[in-house]
Amino acid sequence: YKTGFVKFFDGNSKIKTPPLFMDNVLDVAVEADKLLEIAVKKLKKTESQIINNLRFIRAFVQKEKISIECEEVKSGRRKLFSAKLFVDATGTNSPVSRRLNAGRSITHVCPTVGTLARGFKRGTAAKEVDFSVGEILVSTEDASDNRQLIWEGFPGNPSKDEYTTYLFFYDSVESKADKSLFRLFEDYFEKLPDYKSKNGAWRVVKPVFGYIPSVHHRGWNNLKKTATDRILLIGDAAGLSSPLTFCGFGSHVRNLRKLTDLTEYSLVENDYTERSLSKINAYEPRVAQMSSLAEFMRPMPNSKSSVVNETMNAVMKSLSCLDAEISREMFQDRIKFSSFKKVLLKTARIHPKVFKLMIEHLGIKGAFWWISNIAKAGLQERNHLKNSSSR
Ligand SMILES: Cc1cc2nc3c(=O)[nH]c(=O)nc-3n(C[C@H](O)[C@H](O)[C@H](O)COP(=O)(O)OP(=O)(O)OC[C@H]3O[C@@H](n4cnc5c(N)ncnc54)[C@H](O)[C@@H]3O)c2cc1C
Repeated sequence: YKTGFVKFFDGNSKIKTPPLFMDNVLDVAVEADKLLEIAVKKLKKTESQIINNLRFIRAFVQKEKISIECEEVKSGRRKLFSAKLFVDATGTNSPVSRRLNAGRSITHVCPTVGTLARGFKRGTAAKEVDFSVGEILVSTEDASDNRQLIWEGFPGNPSKDEYTTYLFFYDSVESKADKSLFRLFEDYFEKLPDYKSKNGAWRVVKPVFGYIPSVHHRGWNNLKKTATDRILLIGDAAGLSSPLTFCGFGSHVRNLRKLTDLTEYSLVENDYTERSLSKINAYEPRVAQMSSLAEFMRPMPNSKSSVVNETMNAVMKSLSCLDAEISREMFQDRIKFSSFKKVLLKTARIHPKVFKLMIEHLGIKGAFWWISNIAKAGLQERNHLKNSSSR
């Protein structure tokens, strides 16, 4: 679609900001069934084999190989496979990922529910759906019950009249917020009329739901473990995507070439050590500085209910005063240190209380690691520029 926008509720916020429009951000809708069909066709042309209805049970790492125990879903029969390398793509709940990270494979989650549905009123008014515009983040009320609910609205195929709406909230694994997807689905159906108007023929094509994982890094070199000898985690099992946009699929598409090239290199070199496999991941250092910005998207137990919207209205206002490229960088998970500095300074000018809020919000330790993450990103960027200019 043509463009997209972000808009935070400003009914109780001192800073009022109109929708912030940006081009080339989250503007591609993919039909998952078609994508899978293409992938299956491609695999079938190779020597690969696709075996359906198998459940992964456990892996045995041995010196010369790895053995994988699976269960046939229908018969319950066990099967054993051997390989040089095991790539685990079992998503957020990957038991292998939990095991590698001492039970703490994720620190934050985005409980998300929604539908792909037909029959929304079409038009350009706020409560109508416009098939040429994506709604990247929209809040329609302040926080309650430790949750700041946020909507997303994405047009699908206009000829099929299919439009996707999500309701989600940013959360930490340890927070008191109710993380139940059932409760969130109840909220979704109750609150949907406040977000979008339906025509008489509204119907759900399919429900969508899940917990989108992320990891906030605190401490030097405290990166999540995404590999061990002969095991490589990918996708949500690795869970290194942006804590701001939570686009795990997008992150892997961006990194696909790098991931496949490095995996092939390991296979050719017969090198399956943890040290080598750990380099095969979609971690983007600039994403670390986004993690604390994402922390501002969830209310803390003692904060005012309007605090998330108020802070985000200040950030959006500062983005609207800066070059449009900076908003794009931020929402495409590739913000440069120099741009991030500009956003911080501008936001502090618009909303001087923002640093006090940061300490209240993140605590002294959290604020320290945020600043450290930013400094680290700045240093990495300087070194990168130095290296490329001396080449
Ligand atoms: C509602 C919602 C909306 C989203 N929107 C976006 C978006 O707009 N853009 C974006 O980039 N990302 C989005 N995401 C995130 C994106 O969907 C994930 O990052 C992506 O699907 C991760 O892919 P994956 O293959 O790693 O894991 P998954 O898609 O979770 O696939 C894991 C697979 O492993 C299977 N599995 C699990 N355990 C076992 C086992 N023991 N044995 C065998 N199989 C097993 C599961 O059945 C599943 O099929 C969204 C997520 C949700 C929940």
